[in-house]
Amino acid sequence: MSRGRSSGGAVQAAGYEAVIGLEVHVQLRTAEKLFCADSTRFGDAPNTNVCPVCLGLPGALPVVNPEAVDLAVRAAVAFGCTIHESSVFARKNYFYPDLPKGYQISQFEAPLATAGRFAVETAYGETEIRIRRIHLEEDAGKLIHDRIAGSTAVDLNRAGTPLIELVSEPDLRNARDARAYLQQVKHVLEYLDVSDCNMEEGSLRVDANISIRPSGSTGLGTKTEVKNMNSFSNVERALTVEIRRQRAAVRQGEAVEHQTLLWDETRGEVRPMRSKEESHDYRYFPEPDLPPLVVPPGRIDEIRRGLPDLPKARRERLQRAFGIPAYDAGVLTSERALADYYEKVVGLGTEPKEASNWVMGPLLALAKAVDTPLGAFPVTPGDLAGLIGLVGSGAISRRVAKDVLPRMLERGRSAAEIVEEDGLAQIRDDDRIGVWIAEVLARHPKEIERFRAGERRLQGFFMGQVMKASRGKADPSRVSRLLAERLRG
Ligand code: ADP
Ligand code: MG
Repeated sequence: MSRGRSSGGAVQAAGYEAVIGLEVHVQLRTAEKLFCADSTRFGDAPNTNVCPVCLGLPGALPVVNPEAVDLAVRAAVAFGCTIHESSVFARKNYFYPDLPKGYQISQFEAPLATAGRFAVETAYGETEIRIRRIHLEEDAGKLIHDRIAGSTAVDLNRAGTPLIELVSEPDLRNARDARAYLQQVKHVLEYLDVSDCNMEEGSLRVDANISIRPSGSTGLGTKTEVKNMNSFSNVERALTVEIRRQRAAVRQGEAVEHQTLLWDETRGEVRPMRSKEESHDYRYFPEPDLPPLVVPPGRIDEIRRGLPDLPKARRERLQRAFGIPAYDAGVLTSERALADYYEKVVGLGTEPKEASNWVMGPLLALAKAVDTPLGAFPVTPGDLAGLIGLVGSGAISRRVAKDVLPRMLERGRSAAEIVEEDGLAQIRDDDRIGVWIAEVLARHPKEIERFRAGERRLQGFFMGQVMKASRGKADPSRVSRLLAERLRG
């Protein structure tokens, strides 16, 4: 296994290296909850998607949602895990107001999948991070502190929503690599369509475990667990702060205390939340209301065969198949919907580099400006291919085409229709172009003299004036040729 070199230079100089393991909770993109048929939709009125099962009323029995199992298996396959044909749901008992049952159904001793690996691209090359386990569990409800003055409200719509927990081995060595790992895990999960990974809506949540140890040693020091980081940059900041705090403690001869810490984003510091509970505090035991979860090997193979290209493979394939630069392939695969869109445009016969310039440039800018995901963008790949085709055939100039694109979105019309309606077709008629040239030359006798006296760069000035006179519609190559003839006089 190739560990990336640690870039935590300061930590190493002081003789201590950081050791980081991450626990990532990911909400699965299912319509229904993990053990009942309630909706998982985000943002519904509080406590409307609840039933006796997710409320834990006596006598209600859970039934596993097969869609959630398939998504968990898909993730486990993608992260190279061994998937166990039989795994066991367990009760994790604790008391908290967001947990109506008094326990969470999770997996403990016999998880769905173990022993995976993930190649992370870091600033120092590729580092392999081992994945300890991926298991299925249900989410808890949500406490709302800012709705009722002086009290806390609880919304149980989220209770019972399916999650996977993806646990890494303590293989990360600095805060920046931890951030890269998370970003790339999220990228893969998005490609797999396992989750929407929306961090603001809490679809992806991270707990970080951190310890330090003398550089070169292999044992593990006492760790702390940091929670409440709701963005990748916060994860990096929190880890940096916590590593620094532990080093300072150890340098002063204090021991690192085993505890759970909360990241305070505004103050940029970690605060103790509670002394850490041990797993025996949860009194785990096998869930008596559910049989072992059985995933037949045939189903695993089917899911494996149906796995889409992951980001790295897709990037390499785009580069190879279409001969586009690595940079373009990187941007185009930064989102699966973008890569899908691009491939459709090329599939319609557009020259690949031309398609790439349009998709990465004007199209992406427009989609961002109106804040619409490309998967649902009203200007379809066919519409864009049509627009690029008009440039290729010389019907419109590239400059005009850039104005046509937003009008296509506004009016829901094809490029050809906009060009027709707005009279934007490129003018290639020498006589009409000649009239504009004559007008411009008549207005600028001094510039003609200077040009003829040798100031050749004025060609560009004349060119610009003629294009302006034609309101961008004259065919530039014809303008250039005719202008050169007339200026020669
Ligand atoms: P816990 O029982 O506290 O949840 P686990 O041993 O189950 O601890 O590990 C949880 C996570 O913490 C894993 O991602 C693991 O890699 C990481 N981890 C475990 N021990 C350490 C350590 N000493 N330093 C940093 N990370 C650790
Ligand atoms: Mg833990």
